[in-house]
Amino acid sequence: MRIGHGYDLHRLDEISPQGSGRPFVLGGVRIEAPRGPVAHSDGDALLHAVTDALLGALGLPDIGQLFPDHDPRHDGADSAAFLREAVQRMHAAGFEVGNIDCTVICERPKIGPHKDSIAANIARLLCCRREQVNVKGKTHERVDAVGEGRAIEVHVVALLVARSAVS
Ligand code: MG
Repeated sequence: MRIGHGYDLHRLDEISPQGSGRPFVLGGVRIEAPRGPVAHSDGDALLHAVTDALLGALGLPDIGQLFPDHDPRHDGADSAAFLREAVQRMHAAGFEVGNIDCTVICERPKIGPHKDSIAANIARLLCCRREQVNVKGKTHERVDAVGEGRAIEVHVVALLVARSAVS
């Protein structure tokens, strides 16, 4: 077994052209929101944290090393591509996802109504079952940048298990 932790934070700003935020995408799911992530890629903090949890569990270079934010190829990139690369590396190393637990912290939008579709999409990307993915949403109690709606923060813990011979 291997365990990995992933963390990410993105600043939130009014969505372009009013501000520098990109459309709000979380776990690969587009959600209507007044503000969106400031990022080189599409700014999907949840997929970034999941990617880093897998890479960390495998002892591989992190997402910033594999996909540098100064690389023009990643400008506006769909973060699912980063996660797919991590999943390929996980399978190549002989592991698959046992389970993954994600905590998203932001004031707006509310994550609750979208948890199911986000978890289902992450499970699809991880090639695992929906029940192996858990997504929780929290606020930051209006404290600090996250609580003031100026940032989104994500923590992820992933447990990897040796790949069964039949899969
Ligand atoms: Mg990120």
